[in-house]
Amino acid sequence: MTEPLYRGRFAPSPTGPLHFGSLVTAVASFLEARSHNGIWLVRIEDLDPLRESPEATDRILASLDAHGLHSDEPVRFQSERHAHYHRLIDRLLECGLAYRCACSRKQLKEHGGRHPEGCREGHAEPGERPYAIRFALHDEHSEWHDQLLGPQSQTVHAELDDPVILRKEGFYAYQLAVVADDIDQGITHVVRGSDLLDMTAQQQQIYRALGAQPPHWMHIPVILNDEGQKLSKQNHAPALDDQLAKDNLQRALAALGQDSGLLSGAKDIDTLLDLATANWAPERIHLTAR
Ligand code: GLU
Repeated sequence: MTEPLYRGRFAPSPTGPLHFGSLVTAVASFLEARSHNGIWLVRIEDLDPLRESPEATDRILASLDAHGLHSDEPVRFQSERHAHYHRLIDRLLECGLAYRCACSRKQLKEHGGRHPEGCREGHAEPGERPYAIRFALHDEHSEWHDQLLGPQSQTVHAELDDPVILRKEGFYAYQLAVVADDIDQGITHVVRGSDLLDMTAQQQQIYRALGAQPPHWMHIPVILNDEGQKLSKQNHAPALDDQLAKDNLQRALAALGQDSGLLSGAKDIDTLLDLATANWAPERIHLTAR
């Protein structure tokens, strides 16, 4: 059997139930994958037990199911992947691409984001204090192509931007885990909200440090509330009503600029998603939100 040419995913952090903004991202990534005859996966990015809850995870998964968005492979949970992240961090530490850092945020701020001598080089003794582990970026002007937004150029600042990959509290952090699992799951195409656009050049460096080629990226505009803020749990975005799944899907397709009139005749959710796949035209997505 030949490998599929397209493996996409939807990777929510379970900070709350699925809201309209996350549905729009899920639908866009699902339709992109389906329209390429690809595989679509769901991955729960449950890295932070202080901000996330198992109830939110259950509700997200139930909502996705209610909206006909089923993962083609078993759902992956990042909370079960610690041993893998640990191995990768050891590897990065060994080859000098990560370092233990006991600097406080205040300390870094006072020094314009610079670390005390020896910290980045791994010479500083982190001692007993809790320390984080950071990925050591290199200075780079990165030029890459976004499949919706077109040519992108981003500057990566070594040291100033170095992301934490293991937090002082002992939790693995997003920047490493997202790349580690995208590599491990063979993700070829990432469709996600444009609030993560600025992370991309840093993530490209992590891909290469782990010996992998970055995937294709498509960043879609985030859905804003009436005050112009991103819909999120912090902004009290209401949970979706799963009883209204068909309406929700139609609204999501309209928000993505798709021809929702064409879909109004669909008798059920599966037919709606099939029609939406056949007519999927990402170039119709309005780019106004960013
Ligand atoms: N887990 C991230 C979030 O919910 C998304 C990760 C990604 O798509 O790269 O914001």
